[in-house]
Amino acid sequence: MSQKTEKLIDKKGLRLDGRKPDELRPIKIEVGVLSNADGSAYIEQGKNKILAAVFGPKELHPKHLALQDRMVLRCRYHMAPFSVQERKSPAPSRREIELSKVIRESLEPAIFLEYYPRTGIDIFVEVLQADGGTRCASITAASLALADAGIPMRDLVAACAAGKADDTIVLDLMDTEDKIGTADVPVALMPNLNAITLLQMDGILTLEEFKKAVNMAIEGCKKIYALQKEALKLKYVSVKEEAEE
Ligand code: UDP
Repeated sequence: MSQKTEKLIDKKGLRLDGRKPDELRPIKIEVGVLSNADGSAYIEQGKNKILAAVFGPKELHPKHLALQDRMVLRCRYHMAPFSVQERKSPAPSRREIELSKVIRESLEPAIFLEYYPRTGIDIFVEVLQADGGTRCASITAASLALADAGIPMRDLVAACAAGKADDTIVLDLMDTEDKIGTADVPVALMPNLNAITLLQMDGILTLEEFKKAVNMAIEGCKKIYALQKEALKLKYVSVKEEAEE
């Protein structure tokens, strides 16, 4: 981070990929893409390509992990060896273990865990191609996979980062902005409840910049939420049409 070798914002105030500071990357979301999982979703956000699959609620193995008063949520975030420029070892890295925890903790508040005591849900996130902001895109997709599996939820969780590129606060950082920029603030939001379930910060920002980044990320989450709802509806319209045929 923070080596200013390249300008991230041009004279017109646009970013390397032509985006305005508060513009999201193009997003494509599909729900119910895997027939062998209880729920699934696929997201493309810029160059990120991520699959999320959910199994459960089901009996937990090993059994001693089960909790008497609620369901246990488990999550595995994994990057395919071909997902980044330099081949990534398929073995779980420290970063993947951390992100698995971060994704799980940002989804937990959205689920009525108390409805299914002594059971568990497994979320598997496979990053097929990464270009910055994969934790947020994974949360967005995993939340839809949970909804697709019919898990009772308080709200969907939408996630997006904001950060600082050169001297500008920007939304939805891509890899170059993440690496050369000076700060990254990932946020996850339950938009209907107006509740933040993830807030991290990497880098240095003034208080004013931090507030601007958080507000910009929240606005980004709200836009992603609209796309999530559209994708969910589309799945059930196509299921209905198939049933009618
Ligand atoms: N990355 C990489 N190799 C790795 C891990 C990450 O090239 O082994 C890249 C990838 O593009 C990722 C970005 O670094 O999206 C930023 O990673 P970070 O840890 O900040 O998490 P993210 O922004 O993806 O949530």
